[in-house]
Amino acid sequence: MEQNGHGSMGDQSQAIVSNLDRLRSRIARASIDSGRSGDSVRLVCVSKGQEVSALRAALVAGERIFGENRVQEAARKWPDLKTEFAPVELHLIGPLQTNKVREAVALFDVIETLDRPRLAEALAREFDAAGRRPKLYVEVNTGREPQKAGVLPEDADNFIKFCRQDCSLEIEGLMCIPPADQQASPHFALLAQIASRNGIDCLSMGMSADYELGIQLGATHVRVGSAIFGARLHA
Ligand SMILES: *Cc1c(COP(=O)(O)O)cnc(C)c1O
Repeated sequence: MEQNGHGSMGDQSQAIVSNLDRLRSRIARASIDSGRSGDSVRLVCVSKGQEVSALRAALVAGERIFGENRVQEAARKWPDLKTEFAPVELHLIGPLQTNKVREAVALFDVIETLDRPRLAEALAREFDAAGRRPKLYVEVNTGREPQKAGVLPEDADNFIKFCRQDCSLEIEGLMCIPPADQQASPHFALLAQIASRNGIDCLSMGMSADYELGIQLGATHVRVGSAIFGARLHA
């Protein structure tokens, strides 16, 4: 029954709820099929380019882990929702410029895109100043794509060591975005190898098109946007 001008539950909200239902069971199935427990993988709902009404629908449906790729956009959409639906875990999944480090550290709970020494140094300084320490994942450019962020695979071990030893940062995870035009599996396997030899537990890999493959190859976090929310306003 119509309760207000938007209906009791909009079409978009209903679509989000049923997309989430389907996604959760496929994630659980993929986890079990690869010999892990059904709840071993965290779903990061990628809400970039989505309006607050869509975020709210996913929150009401019980989701608490979200990913945004722009600091400014997240700062506009999230502070009030974070309070209202606490605890929410907000992941930064887009490039971080050093001049936005203060704002990012204040807002995000996980920064998945640590990829250069200057940024590591800036984060370490800000962690001390702010007394807040978001978890850090190192982004690896597994496809060696010049336009893409991330450390090159052959530089990853040294960079992780630099973060740990020179900046006293804990590295909790690794993240990659495979080239759009290639099989993702070798990239996911490479990321898992780098994590394993560096004693890193979290692996953020797999998006709408390939999250099940990510889970097969050891993902602890999958970042899914369009399969939950549909089309978005920007990339
Ligand atoms: C947009 C984005 C996603 C989600 O992509 P979908 O294909 O919509 O699931 C995941 N990770 C990163 C880093 C992104 O920028």
